[in-house]
Amino acid sequence: MAFVFDPIPTPSLPVVGTDKKFPVNRIFCVGRNYAEHAREMGHDPNKEPPFFFMKSADTLFHGHQLPYPDKTKDFHFEMELVVALKSGGVNIAPETALSHVFGYAVGLDMTRRDLQAEQKKLGRPWEVGKSFEKSAPCGPIHPVEKVGHVSTGAIWLDVDGQRKQTADLKDMIWDIPNQIAFLSGLFELKPGDLIYSGTPAGVGAVQKGQRMHGHVDGVGEIDITVV
Ligand code: MN
Repeated sequence: MAFVFDPIPTPSLPVVGTDKKFPVNRIFCVGRNYAEHAREMGHDPNKEPPFFFMKSADTLFHGHQLPYPDKTKDFHFEMELVVALKSGGVNIAPETALSHVFGYAVGLDMTRRDLQAEQKKLGRPWEVGKSFEKSAPCGPIHPVEKVGHVSTGAIWLDVDGQRKQTADLKDMIWDIPNQIAFLSGLFELKPGDLIYSGTPAGVGAVQKGQRMHGHVDGVGEIDITVV
């Protein structure tokens, strides 16, 4: 049977070294996964198991000119390593988790921090702060066959040439295999799922006209101007 109207296209990302696209299914995000960032948000990093929230797949943004969103006065950057899955399942063991990874990318978990803070205070869900249009900028996917697996190396973000966030991937509280293992106990992971693996300390606001330039060793760069 035909659809009653044309479905919107599947969100996708380019794959480095090929003309094929990576089809995106869901976007999972890990909260407070670097100790210094947990502290700056007012939490004790030692007491918490990982927690997750989601962005709708159509929040994905692949481009260089990011429009400043409505309804916020506190539009924050969160620089993150993104993990792209080619397969999934449930209750995946950490030891086999990396076999499900297709590749890695550099992403930004853009946040309307004022709206998120309001929702937190009221004990409400975070979508208005986290899952709005174009809130998930992401660079192209670098396949594992080209770059290998990524577990150490620098992750940083400059705003207008000034270093705002910097850390080493090995500073993650929950590494990639354990993120996949933990998530797969809560959800059946699927091909095309992305995991935004958390942000280092130093998150902050950007204004129209500012340029965000991020880097993860071995996974490339992201270069976005807020317009
Ligand atoms: Mn984040």
